[in-house]
Amino acid sequence: MTRTLYSAPYIVGFQEGQHRILRDGCLVVDGDRITHVGAEYAGEVDERVDLPNRIITPGFIDTHSHLHESPIDKSVQEDTGNRQFWLTGLIEILPAEAAGLDRASMRACVDYSLIELARSGTTTVLQLGDEADYVADAVEASGLRGYVAPSYRSGRWFTPDGRRVDYEWDEAAGRRGLEEAIRFVESNTGRADGRVQGFLAPGQVDTCSEDLLRASSVAAGELRVPVSLHASQGVWEFNEITRRHGRTPVEWLADIGFLGPRTLLGHAIFITGNSWVNFAGNDLGLLAQSQTSVSYNAWCFARRGILMESFPEYVEAGVNMCLGTDTAPQSMIESLRWTAISGKITSRRADTSTARRVFDAATLNAAAMLDRPDLGRIAPGAKADLLFWRTDSFGMAPLRDPIRNIVYYAQPSDLADVMVDGKTVVEDGVVVGADVAAAARGVQAAGERVWAHWSEGDWAGRSLEEVAPMTYPAFEDTDVEGTKR
Ligand SMILES: [Zn+2]
Repeated sequence: MTRTLYSAPYIVGFQEGQHRILRDGCLVVDGDRITHVGAEYAGEVDERVDLPNRIITPGFIDTHSHLHESPIDKSVQEDTGNRQFWLTGLIEILPAEAAGLDRASMRACVDYSLIELARSGTTTVLQLGDEADYVADAVEASGLRGYVAPSYRSGRWFTPDGRRVDYEWDEAAGRRGLEEAIRFVESNTGRADGRVQGFLAPGQVDTCSEDLLRASSVAAGELRVPVSLHASQGVWEFNEITRRHGRTPVEWLADIGFLGPRTLLGHAIFITGNSWVNFAGNDLGLLAQSQTSVSYNAWCFARRGILMESFPEYVEAGVNMCLGTDTAPQSMIESLRWTAISGKITSRRADTSTARRVFDAATLNAAAMLDRPDLGRIAPGAKADLLFWRTDSFGMAPLRDPIRNIVYYAQPSDLADVMVDGKTVVEDGVVVGADVAAAARGVQAAGERVWAHWSEGDWAGRSLEEVAPMTYPAFEDTDVEGTKR
């Protein structure tokens, strides 16, 4: 193993339970681990790397992503929102996207998304969805750290008429899905020196039966892996659960013993106190008392006009808040930024939805959820998952507080190098081993297949142009006198 000392003007070191800014310090990487961080190092090293123009921070942990489909959302989801479904794209858009999303398209999306993740600072990603075997292979090849979960559920939602949401149930398929997911976790244990592993992801609170959720919870405990569930992600879903059980989604999950330190709820936006549902109760207290984690994916809801109310209130209630990307762009830089900014807007305060809180969420809080005290920090014994940001780029000037510059201003181009498990995965902005042009061509071809098959998955057989018209109409061809041809 090679022992390398990196010195830099700014290092975000971990000390006494929190991140601290170390000025003009150094850290030592020995193989896959950090063995030292401090002002100086007196021991022997094999190599010394002086980085006078770098900020070294821990890598980001993305706790919610769907790499196999997310790029397809681009230029489709942003400017549409059916009032009948409270603006969500889940009811009408997702089934239509799925109609043309064949296996080759999903794989193209995975290849593209992993490049996006690496160049914007994600070193650990939690992936939920289809093509899990392919994703696990691709994560291993990418050099990133990945928790991969094939998702499963007891039923699916659909709309027959664009007015209401119905459900179609197949309990046996849900149980088979859980069994396959358990096998997936077992067969991937210890893979790539532990860099790639599985976890459990029953789909959504409204598509999983009580039996399936209870069984998933038990299995997660036996396997010692996280269990992630989409919950409180739409008004229609909140209303469906209150209609079925007379309880909010969070209350119902508490009742059936699903909440706990291993549990990660995707979104948890529509809870008691949220103005869109106007429902009395104490969902935040239930989440905090049970030590349940929440993954907030600010951008993909904000682009449809939906915000958590509010990120700082969840933090102050004691909920372990984590961040994710969910969909395009797979950029944790954007996730940190949109979380901080949308939290300021919804809380009507600037001083509670801070760079510190979102940076902690993307590092320390996510590591706590994963029960990985060796991730999300620069400390002796931690994994060498590191980001090397530029201090000398145009966008990072002037530089006073590196965390605020990263949260509020940084672009992927301000991130020079990324290290995972002691190995370089991005070098001077270039994702090592990736064919970026081929990945872009791959998602273009995938997009064109999905757009062409749109009407087959739309409840009314509409084309994509009818559902999400182009921003401007097509330019009309005329002759020199201005007459249309
Ligand atoms: Zn999701």
